[in-house]
Amino acid sequence: MQSVTTERHGDVLVILVNNPPVNALSWHVRQGLKDGIEEALADEAIKSVVLRCAGQTFIAGADITEFGKPPQGPDFNEVLNTIELAGKPVIAAIHGTALGGGLETALVCHYRIAVPSAMLGVPEVKLGLLPGAGGTQRLPRIVGVEVAATMVSSGDPLPASKAKELGLVDALAGEATLADDAIAFAREMIAQGPRPTRDRPIKGDIAVIEQLKAANARKWKGFDAPYANLACVEAATRLPFEEGMVFERTEFMKLMMGSQSAAQRHMFFAERKAAKIDGLPKDVQLRDIKKVGVIGAGTMGGGISMNFLQAGIPVTIVEMAKDALDRGVGVIRKNYEASAAKGRFSADKVEKMMGLLTPTLSMEDLADCDLVIEAVYESMDVKKDVFGKLDKIVKQGAILASNTSYLDVNEIAASTSRPADVLGMHFFSPANVMKLLEVVRGDKTALDALATVMALSKKIKKVAVVADVCHGFIGNRMLSERQGPANQLLLEGATPAQIDKVHTDFGMPMGPFQMADLAGLDIGWHRDPSRIETIRDALCAAGRLGQKNGKGFYDYDEKRNGTPSAEALAIIEEFRATSNLPKREISDQEIIERTLYPMVNEGYKILEEGKAQRASDIDVVWIYGYGWPVYRGGPMFWGDLEGAGKIVAALEKHGVKVADSLKAKA
Ligand code: NAD
Repeated sequence: MQSVTTERHGDVLVILVNNPPVNALSWHVRQGLKDGIEEALADEAIKSVVLRCAGQTFIAGADITEFGKPPQGPDFNEVLNTIELAGKPVIAAIHGTALGGGLETALVCHYRIAVPSAMLGVPEVKLGLLPGAGGTQRLPRIVGVEVAATMVSSGDPLPASKAKELGLVDALAGEATLADDAIAFAREMIAQGPRPTRDRPIKGDIAVIEQLKAANARKWKGFDAPYANLACVEAATRLPFEEGMVFERTEFMKLMMGSQSAAQRHMFFAERKAAKIDGLPKDVQLRDIKKVGVIGAGTMGGGISMNFLQAGIPVTIVEMAKDALDRGVGVIRKNYEASAAKGRFSADKVEKMMGLLTPTLSMEDLADCDLVIEAVYESMDVKKDVFGKLDKIVKQGAILASNTSYLDVNEIAASTSRPADVLGMHFFSPANVMKLLEVVRGDKTALDALATVMALSKKIKKVAVVADVCHGFIGNRMLSERQGPANQLLLEGATPAQIDKVHTDFGMPMGPFQMADLAGLDIGWHRDPSRIETIRDALCAAGRLGQKNGKGFYDYDEKRNGTPSAEALAIIEEFRATSNLPKREISDQEIIERTLYPMVNEGYKILEEGKAQRASDIDVVWIYGYGWPVYRGGPMFWGDLEGAGKIVAALEKHGVKVADSLKAKA
């Protein structure tokens, strides 16, 4: 079957692309488009041309299966030039999505007609790239600087109705009548004639580019691609088209060859791979999850519940006492109302979601739940007690999950008569916001239970990763490897602010001590002020408990902005003096070597022990659970960039036991 065919409709030639599933720009499609235009130009009876796609969508982008293979067929830019410079009007007829190369194809057409449900955009920036086939040069010539700059730097698509308002689309078609409407529109445009995009003047003020940079300074911190996209739009306003194209190509190649886009493309595939359970038979039947129970309405239980309510799944939430229950439910409502006030959803939706929530003080009310998630205190005794009770109450076939951060899920499972139904669902705080879900597989967890929870995670918009049982699973286990050396560096003379700054400059949302203050320094504290064995003990004994009481490693104002604290530094110095370690200058490089390299090392150990399915899953955990910068691709990807040899040498210098598999790579 040919992927591009032509049909004559009187004086209009329709070029029809049919390259399932998404009409990607494979070499034969490019060839067919070029041939189609040439056919139209050679035939005097043809006065205008429609470019339309069969199936579910307009051209959705490049053909990724051709990446890295020797080029075949005409070059994409050559095809685009042929369309744009055609002496007869060419009309793009758009349905589904016109993204990336798909939109770039539509941009060289002289007019665009679309169904209202179509989406148009250039998402390249999300992969650390820019639309490199003239997208940055042609888009501003059609929609002006402001819209073009916003589209290329955000990567967010626009619905066709909005695109019509902005001039990106010239006419809207009926949802079911695109084929006919496009031909009629093409006929109308015969009188207008062709309108090469490259010849159109650019409207708008480049001041908007600086405004966008200022408004997104935080979001784009560290990223190259948004700035490169904007530089190209800016170039379009001052350079002739051909020179602008050269500028765009140079910027594109810089991004394509750089590590950021490689990292972002790695994450794109890593996220999709994470959903896969190795060795899962195809015929596994998933369990039906219609009703969820949550135990504990504290920090985590409330946030966990919100995920399900938002997905339209009813939740029964259990607490020990009425005041804790009321407080927990109140926080959920307050969070929803705050989101509604920001326009994220309607007030009606808030009531609808709250209507799906059943608060109760009785665990008996969980009897008919299909999944119960425990989020009570982090204590093995408490958890065993809860699971023992659940075992007696909840119907057979239900999945029983724990949100434990560190504890042994096998031991928790053993407190029930049905360990095959038990697993960990480790959400991250705030649980309604953070996208990561570590799904912890116990030794006896049934495959169908695991597969059910992995599938359910998509419904609640989480990115789930399978982890096997070990202390802290993937994420927190690696976090411990960072915190230990960070504490030691304080004893050797570094300050919390110095260490944290190295981490935030690296791109983390916060450093180890800012994170400790956020979580609370008294977590796990023995509460005996006379026993001072660590810097944390000393800070707690002095009443410095972290953000919650306004002072920890830092001092906090009412808005919880932290500043270095003279008192904390004095406490640290006093404790440090007892360690007999000489105080010395510590370089930023040493902080990286001692706090980040051990995380990479631990990642290798996790893989050696089979606690993670694949290295890219570890990257997913750190990006979605802890805010590791996407443009560095996660600790394992970053470790490869740094180089195993360099990492091993540094770890050995600092006396860290190196994972065999990491050593083998060096
Ligand atoms: P929390 O103290 O805020 O909430 C725990 C709640 O459980 C309290 O409201 C308490 O009244 C209730 N509770 C205790 N025993 C109960 C019982 N038998 N029946 C009903 N309710 C009971 O604690 P949290 O921060 O929400 O942590 C809960 C769990 O989630 C812990 O295992 C923790 O390790 C884990 N976790 C916490 C975080 C975090 O950042 N806070 C992140 C991931 C996982």
